[in-house]
Amino acid sequence: MKKTQNPQCARCPVRVCENHGAKMIDGPPAKNKLPGFCPMKLMPEVFAEAALEYLKPEVREFARLASVQEFQCFEPPAGQHRARLSRIEELIQFSRKCGYKKLGIAHCGGMMREAGLLSDILEKNGFEVVSVQCKAGAVPKEEIGIAATEKMAGPEDWESMCNPIAQAMIINRTQVDLAIMLGLCVGHDTLFIKYCKPPLTVLAVKDRLLAHNPLGALYLSNSYYRHLRTGNK
Ligand code: SF4
Repeated sequence: MKKTQNPQCARCPVRVCENHGAKMIDGPPAKNKLPGFCPMKLMPEVFAEAALEYLKPEVREFARLASVQEFQCFEPPAGQHRARLSRIEELIQFSRKCGYKKLGIAHCGGMMREAGLLSDILEKNGFEVVSVQCKAGAVPKEEIGIAATEKMAGPEDWESMCNPIAQAMIINRTQVDLAIMLGLCVGHDTLFIKYCKPPLTVLAVKDRLLAHNPLGALYLSNSYYRHLRTGNK
């Protein structure tokens, strides 16, 4: 059976879609330069489908505000790309733009201090803040089939499971305008995203080794993290 070609933007040498250096008067980029793995070539109908979504007034306005926010993250004049806002500042500005009043933080139990600091900052900036940590519910890990030998605290100790589904349900029930993920683990974050109903953004992801900066391993993948590139564990 012939293998289906996957979109591979990450390997694109031409980035035709960005149309760098062109003026509006020049129009869109020439499609004949697209590489074979380009999603614009492989799935053109998807872009037509997405364009229809942007015609929905609420979607269009949200997308517009997000792009205005992106623009405001840079110092004028346009074109020099000098950044000026941290992600937290961006989060505050974007929430104001959207008219959000109540924000909900879903955070890791290992980020109590950060969640407290974030709550303080958001409250000082006029928002009502809900926060719920991953261990809420105090459900022992045995409930999801974790063996005594798989508990970090030790076989005899109580260890509450991370409960991202309950976190999402609490965020849903408190009717926040925007949910903010702060440091949830891989997998737990996936479940949280699956069950969370309000609009959701991410302030930080968990990386225990790299001070919650997972890209550090990529930046060092030619040196200390080169083992990642060999595929060897
Ligand atoms: S959309 Fe097409 S042109 Fe743009 S980066 Fe992806 S593969 Fe390259």
